[in-house]
Amino acid sequence: MLTPTAVLAGIGLVSGLGLAVAARVFAVEVDPRQEEINDQLPGANCGGCGYAGCADFSAALVEGKVQPSDCPVCDDNTRQLLGKIMGVEVGESIKEVALIMCQGGSGVAHLDGRYNGHASCSSADLIGGGDKLCQHGCLGLADCQAVCSFGAMEMGEDGIAHVIPSRCTACGKCVAACPKKLISIVPADTKIHVLCNNTDKGAAARKACGVSCIACKKCQKTFDEDPRIKVQNYLAIVDYKHPPTDESITEVCPTGALTIRLLNSATEEQRPS
Ligand code: SF4
Ligand code: SF4
Ligand code: SF4
Repeated sequence: MLTPTAVLAGIGLVSGLGLAVAARVFAVEVDPRQEEINDQLPGANCGGCGYAGCADFSAALVEGKVQPSDCPVCDDNTRQLLGKIMGVEVGESIKEVALIMCQGGSGVAHLDGRYNGHASCSSADLIGGGDKLCQHGCLGLADCQAVCSFGAMEMGEDGIAHVIPSRCTACGKCVAACPKKLISIVPADTKIHVLCNNTDKGAAARKACGVSCIACKKCQKTFDEDPRIKVQNYLAIVDYKHPPTDESITEVCPTGALTIRLLNSATEEQRPS
């Protein structure tokens, strides 16, 4: 009886010693700044920085692969603190928010049938692109809301998605989740937008929805040498690096696709102003 016990104890002792030696030999040195950085990061693990979570972002930061400003969720104070830990200067960041490029809610966008399947935009999109005549518009089945960790996306009574700018961190998860690719991340201080995603020719776009861009180019033509909106592929696109600022330009649009929408954080919802 004593012999097996002694053998087992011996195996245990040798294994324990082996593990202790291996732990020492193969130990990976962790930069102490990584823990300090982890303590400052929001812990949202949203992936908006391009890494799987905040811990991977902090490892990348100490390795110099990213900058403090690459975390879209951190506020300015936190970015400054990260800069201090890393000993680098952090410039002022521009606040960005998600923007839904569609106004085609109930009674505005025409239906092409009825979808009764699984309540998911991706599933609906697989079945003839959903129940709208417009193949590019919001399906309102909340795939974007499901992935938003910040409660910044909601489905409105009009049947389409709306962003709550004060909560949006511009992490971009909703952008990746939307099968219609109609969510953009734009500077929060911009006011004039083309809220349409329809790239069909004008007549087809007009037939599908009352607020579609019909590619008439009236907006583009108001700019001479300095185009801030351009029609490409039958859809007007705002140049968000150089956006229009004169609100009167929206008056030239015959459909209302070109419109004013305030996106600053004081705005509770991205509803028409
Ligand atoms: S609305 Fe989109 S970009 Fe904004 S926090 Fe939610 S998932 Fe991120
Ligand atoms: S924005 Fe995209 S993901 Fe969100 S409800 Fe509309 S179609 Fe679905
Ligand atoms: S004026 Fe309106 S409908 Fe015409 S191209 Fe511009 S956004 Fe589209």
